[in-house]
Formats: sequence, C-alpha cells, structure tokens
Amino acid sequence: MRLESDPFLSLANKIPNQHIEGTDKKIAGYYCTYIPEELLEAAGMFPYRIRATDNTDTDKADTYMVRFTCSFVRSTLNLALDGEYDFLDGLFICNSCDHSRRMFEIYDMVVFKRDGFNKLVPRFYIALPHIISEEGFQWFYEEIRELKEKIEKAYDVEITDEDLRSSNALYNQNRHLLRKIFDLRMLDSPKLSGTEALQLSIANSSVPKDIANQELERLLKIFKKREGLDTQGKKRILLIGSVVDNIQLTKLVEESDAIIISDNLCFGKKTIMDDVDNTMANPLKAIAKRLYFRNPSCPRTMDDHDRRLNFIKQEIQKGAIDGVLLQRINNCDLHGCDNMLFEHELKNLNIPVFNFDRENFQADTTRLQTRIEAFLEMIS
Ligand code: SF4
Repeated sequence: MRLESDPFLSLANKIPNQHIEGTDKKIAGYYCTYIPEELLEAAGMFPYRIRATDNTDTDKADTYMVRFTCSFVRSTLNLALDGEYDFLDGLFICNSCDHSRRMFEIYDMVVFKRDGFNKLVPRFYIALPHIISEEGFQWFYEEIRELKEKIEKAYDVEITDEDLRSSNALYNQNRHLLRKIFDLRMLDSPKLSGTEALQLSIANSSVPKDIANQELERLLKIFKKREGLDTQGKKRILLIGSVVDNIQLTKLVEESDAIIISDNLCFGKKTIMDDVDNTMANPLKAIAKRLYFRNPSCPRTMDDHDRRLNFIKQEIQKGAIDGVLLQRINNCDLHGCDNMLFEHELKNLNIPVFNFDRENFQADTTRLQTRIEAFLEMIS
C-alpha cells in the first residue's frame, strides 16, 4: 500500500494547509536551507519553506524577472503575486544563489506593494560567505547574532539561551526521525518510495516542528512494519541536483522501472545529516556552526566539491545504487557546474550517469520519460 495520500504526506501537494490557517504563531517564510530555522522557532515563529508546488505558469513573474532566471524562483514569485503567500508574517532571505537572493527586493517592491495588500511584513537578509574558513565563520556568526537582534526588535520578543536550546533539541529530534525513516529507503527491499520520501521532506517544512515530529514518529512505525516494496527488476537510483518541490519528477522516474533510493536534494537528505551541537556553551553559535560547516554543503559553497562528491560516493555504496540522475533547472548555474563535474567523476568510476536539464514544472514529460527509460535500459 502506497502512502502518497496519507494526510501528512498530502500536505506536500499544496501550499496552504490547516496548520497555517489554525496557528497563532507568526509565519516566517524562507527560501533556503541556510536560514537558521532553529532561531525562528526560538522566537516563537512557525518557519515555512517557500516553494511553488504545482504552479504551472510564470506569466506574471516574467514581467519582473527575465526568463533566464530559474523557473523555481519565478514560480514562487508567480504564486506570491497571486496572493498565495499573503499568510507570511516575515520573509527571510540569504545569498544562497543570485536567483533566490533577488526575491528580497522583489517582494518589497512588488509583492508587498500590490493593490489591496496592506500588511506590514518585515524582511530579513543574511549574507553567507562562499568559502569555508575561520574568518568566514566569524562573519556568519555575526550575521546570525544581528539577525537575532533584528527579530527581537521587529516582533518585540526576547530570545533566551533556553529558548534556543529547546528549539535546537526539537530540530535535532526532527532530523533524527527523518534520518531513521530515510535509512529504510536504503534496504534491499526499500520501505518507502522516492516520491513518498520527497513528500515527507516537503510536508516537514510546511508545519510547525512539534507537529511534524509527532507525524514522523507515527510514520516511522508504519514504515517499519510495512512490507518492503516490490522492486524486482527496478534500477536503484540516486537523484541529485536543483530543488525538486513537487512529485511530478520523482513519479516520472519511478513509473519508469526505477526506484529512488537516496538523494542529494535540498528537500531531502542534504539538510538532515548534521545536528546542532546542543552541548556548546553558546546555543546561537551552535546553530551557526551547523549551517556553516554543513556536510554535504550546497554547491554555492566554493572549494567544497570534494566533500559533496564523497557524500555521493557513500550513498552509492550504502544504497547499492545502479545509476545516478543528475538534474538541474535550466539556468541554475550552481547545480549545472557541480553536475558537470559529478558526471565526469562518476563516469570515471564506471557509475552510470544521466545528466539533464528541466523546468521546475515540466510540460513535456513524455520526452523526458523516454530519455530516462533509455538510460535505465542501458544500465546492465
Ligand atoms: S534551483 Fe538553482 S537557481 Fe534555482 S533556487 Fe535552487 S540553487 Fe538557485
């Protein structure tokens, strides 16, 4: 029995949900996994990761962003211009990539100045260095420290060390549960599909973490008890690259005699491998440390490709992977460069690789499916 229509997993298929409508917390919208969610939680907020699930056109957004901007970002803008993100009480942006970073100004100049939109939504920006160094860490910690002060001022709250420690513990528990569930993907007979894993990860970013943890506990029990999926004759795939925020792509792969065993995606494994060291004397510094030194990093971090490659090699070995799908959203330069390197490196190790470009919402699915099927047939 597939769990794709489980009430929690189904939250991944739409933007609004009952937790947004029913919460008395301030909703903090953020674009990138380098935003310190634990800090927002400690401020009493409900962090919600902005996405564009099921958006099918970018006509409105294209007026403000050129078409060679990533279609994920343009899709989120289209939804914001349609009022889908009017529930936000704060916007948190960092310089993860130039495309999403632009949203800091565009929300201010366009989205929050739309006719009829009269809410004051504070915006916050943090700069994250592109290289890993001791000086870079000090810079990033200062950014996070200043962000804490700005949040306290904007929302008239005090964030204590105790609040931070309790939030760190909640988030560590969340990552622990996700890792336990994701381990069940790696078995000879995986207990969940790649589509279910993606839904889990997206839903997890769309509800308050105390609720998410209860749901993950419930689902962990269900997945453990469940029979392994019938994967006879299916190729075991590792999926890597640009953000995937809807199940269209994973379904297309898994309807083609393949099962996605693992991933290196930002709605996925990339963000859950490290915990905050909650024994550190300074809990805010502990948050900054996890983010800054995160392994695997996002390709926006320079000189760190080797750690990302090592992570992929480990996943290939642990998950008995037959082939790797490297995908990027058109014009995503960060993943485009990393994927090009991975393609050469993995081919040198005789690991089958298919590297392709796509749009966030793929209109031409048949052609892509044919290309993926041809790749799967080539794997011996
Ligand atoms: S997919 Fe690439 S370009 Fe688009 S938001 Fe992510 S990193 Fe930026």
